[in-house]
Amino acid sequence: MEASDAIVIGAGHNGLVAANLLADAGWSVRVLEATSQPGGAVRSGFVTAPGYLSDLFSSFYPLGFASPVLSGLDLGLDWRHAPDVLTHLLPDGRAATINRDLAVTMASMEEFAPGDGERWRAAYEEWAGLSDRLLDAILEPFPPVRAGVGLLGQVGISGALRLGRRLVLPVRQLGAELFRGEGATLALAGCALHTDLSPDDAGGGVYGWLLAMLGQQVGWPVPAGGAGRITEALVDRLTARGGEIVYDAPVERVLIARGRAMGVRDAGGRDFRAGRAVLADVPAPALYLDLVGARWLPPRLVDDLSHFRWDGATVKIDWAVNGPIPWTNRAAAGAGTVHLGADLNDLSRYAAALATGELPRRPFLLLGQMSTADPGHSPPGTESVWAYTHLPVRDSWSADEIDEHVARMEAVVEAHAPGFGKLVVGRNVFAPGDLQRENPSLVGGALGGGTSAAFQQLFLRPVPGLGRADTPVDRLFLASSSAHPGGGVHGAPGANAARAALARDRRLTGAVYRGVVGVANRAIYQD
Ligand SMILES: Cc1cc2nc3c(=O)[nH]c(=O)nc-3n(C[C@H](O)[C@H](O)[C@H](O)COP(=O)(O)OP(=O)(O)OC[C@H]3O[C@@H](n4cnc5c(N)ncnc54)[C@H](O)[C@@H]3O)c2cc1C
Repeated sequence: MEASDAIVIGAGHNGLVAANLLADAGWSVRVLEATSQPGGAVRSGFVTAPGYLSDLFSSFYPLGFASPVLSGLDLGLDWRHAPDVLTHLLPDGRAATINRDLAVTMASMEEFAPGDGERWRAAYEEWAGLSDRLLDAILEPFPPVRAGVGLLGQVGISGALRLGRRLVLPVRQLGAELFRGEGATLALAGCALHTDLSPDDAGGGVYGWLLAMLGQQVGWPVPAGGAGRITEALVDRLTARGGEIVYDAPVERVLIARGRAMGVRDAGGRDFRAGRAVLADVPAPALYLDLVGARWLPPRLVDDLSHFRWDGATVKIDWAVNGPIPWTNRAAAGAGTVHLGADLNDLSRYAAALATGELPRRPFLLLGQMSTADPGHSPPGTESVWAYTHLPVRDSWSADEIDEHVARMEAVVEAHAPGFGKLVVGRNVFAPGDLQRENPSLVGGALGGGTSAAFQQLFLRPVPGLGRADTPVDRLFLASSSAHPGGGVHGAPGANAARAALARDRRLTGAVYRGVVGVANRAIYQD
């Protein structure tokens, strides 16, 4: 049996962050990755046409750029920005644009309603005053005691109550409270729909607020050379500290003795011993039900997992485009990300179709102009582009259904950019099954490690509990986006799991930590 202090299951960015932090603490670390490549949903590749680099899954990194976890690792990334952060194209052709220059954003929002420029400024200034502490509070393990106390000290009880209310607002309501015109509300709503929430779902507003205001504050940057550079930097940093990654090693079982994780077994029957901890960068249902097994779990947890909800399925297209996209409204030409195909009510209709199991007739698209953000993505004067949209949650899709939906997606782009199709010189489609084949954690094409709905957040993520990385199995930690604070490339679940493993293992205080977690687990999972 090969031994190391820690085994990390999965070389997604969260697994790699966790492995790096443990290696920094002097632990020997082995990462077992199911596929032949690191990065999980942070990878680039050539899948459309020669010379056109595609970011195969995630591509814009406001959270990664702002995250103290990733910046703390000093990855040496060279961040690039598109001229505009984001443009939301309405079906009637108007555009709402966020630009890192506040005056430019204000002018765009003002076109939709007099005064919305100033209202945007006010919303942004409020955000900017809170953002450091708020981000800390979101990314820290739950409850965020340190950051929470700081935030409370800053805004007082009255401010904290209003902030608490904001955290549960639907984005339609938040937009109506902050602005008068549709443009600014749509800028927020399109961002909220990066999750699986509709404009009318509780808790959607905070995602819209967070992503739109981060866009104003730091932009939505991309690493020069593509998403894969983040992964390369994490891998290089880890291996420089003695960490090892074993590829093509899908873990099938966490080895447990007397309620304690001792190591793992991969599909090839190889056993890997973990002297101090096992950290799992896989979705919660996969960890608990497949790798651990119900026999080692409190029945309450197994029951809770039967209510775990995935986020919606995804279909993603990458295109190689032999020229700039011929947008009718040139406001979209300089945007890294373009939201298109829907006004606010369309977004609600789109979400209702998804909720009722129907394929939206007119899909809402998130589209990335990667060469606009980083010219290194394709030859000069061309564009490496992706767009994705969500599908209802379902077990399987026929090739015809996917083809028809891809045609609907292309029709949306064509409506805003006539002649787009003629410029396409290469195309790759990832249907939900393809996404999962590329990365077994993208179950059914879900990209967030579970719904972002309020009932599966904070101490309810992934199931009711502590909202922390600790599990009912001693020395086993959940390190993936299924854990608080959820999806996105910010590294917090990985960092929180590493810190929990280190805290549990500490010579003087470890016993106290273990005692507290044990008492909490008994209370949480009591029948
Ligand atoms: C299409 C798409 C677009 C996105 N866009 C953005 C974006 O622009 N910005 C952003 O911030 N976020 C975005 N996201 C979300 C973000 O990419 C994810 O939330 C994040 O990458 C999750 O990281 P992770 O480490 O938790 O898991 P993953 O990246 O999913 O990594 C899990 C790893 O574990 C491996 N694995 C799974 N099971 C096993 C096993 N049994 N044994 C061994 N290894 C295993 C997998 O192969 C994978 O390498 C996007 C996601 C998708 C899919």
